Amino acid sequence: MRRPLVVGNWKMHGTQASARALVNAVLAGISGVSADVGMCPPFALIPVVADLVGPRVWVGGQDLHEQEAGAFTGETSGVLLKDLGCRCVIVGHSERRTLYGDTDTRVAEKFRRAQACGLTPILCVGETLSEREAGSTEGVIARQLDAVVDCSGIGAFADAIVAYEPVWAIGTGRNASARQAQLVHGFIRGRLARRDAGIADRLRILYGGSVKAANAGELFAEPDIDGGLIGGASLKADEFLAICGAVRAWTS
Ligand code: PEP
Repeated sequence: MRRPLVVGNWKMHGTQASARALVNAVLAGISGVSADVGMCPPFALIPVVADLVGPRVWVGGQDLHEQEAGAFTGETSGVLLKDLGCRCVIVGHSERRTLYGDTDTRVAEKFRRAQACGLTPILCVGETLSEREAGSTEGVIARQLDAVVDCSGIGAFADAIVAYEPVWAIGTGRNASARQAQLVHGFIRGRLARRDAGIADRLRILYGGSVKAANAGELFAEPDIDGGLIGGASLKADEFLAICGAVRAWTS
């Protein structure tokens, strides 16, 4: 049985004061939450968050550079994220793919670098609306997954998270239906199971895209949806806690 995981992606939001208030409000309500919980603040807020949360909450980066170190002005290394107390890092978020030119190859290199630094990568995959309408959802997801498997091997997925995030659902208020999401999650697990059934079975696959308290329970009830990657709703403590509380019951 896979333990559910809910991770907040704060994107480029927050100040030290608002981060402290948000973390403290989440911590005040987290005792009844059975899921693993994570927060990915903007880079500069990682020390603020890491200092407050303790071991109960995973802290993560929103991205990292694929090289260990070097002349890459403005970038952040996996080594530094680890040093700051991060446990995980998002790679391949659609905003990085579309706005910052992260190709499948570069995402695969970031995934490999994250693991080399002792970070658990949260690999985002997902199709655009036009790709879905053209019937190429599975082809796109397969291409994005295979790039990582080809680079790091299927064994790397023993310590990784996958997040299915349909691009058309991110920040739009229009989530995938539970059935639409489950079909893709099942496809992801099945594709990885062809390489290693045990690893695929243990892999946590999160859904992301306009998750809120009102739709989380229905999504998380699906057998292959093991939690969520939450954008906008992770910035409101009550909403985020309600989403965390909507995960399905699990036994270790
Ligand atoms: C995200 O940014 O990963 C995301 C899922 O955003 P939202 O929940 O706001 O759609």
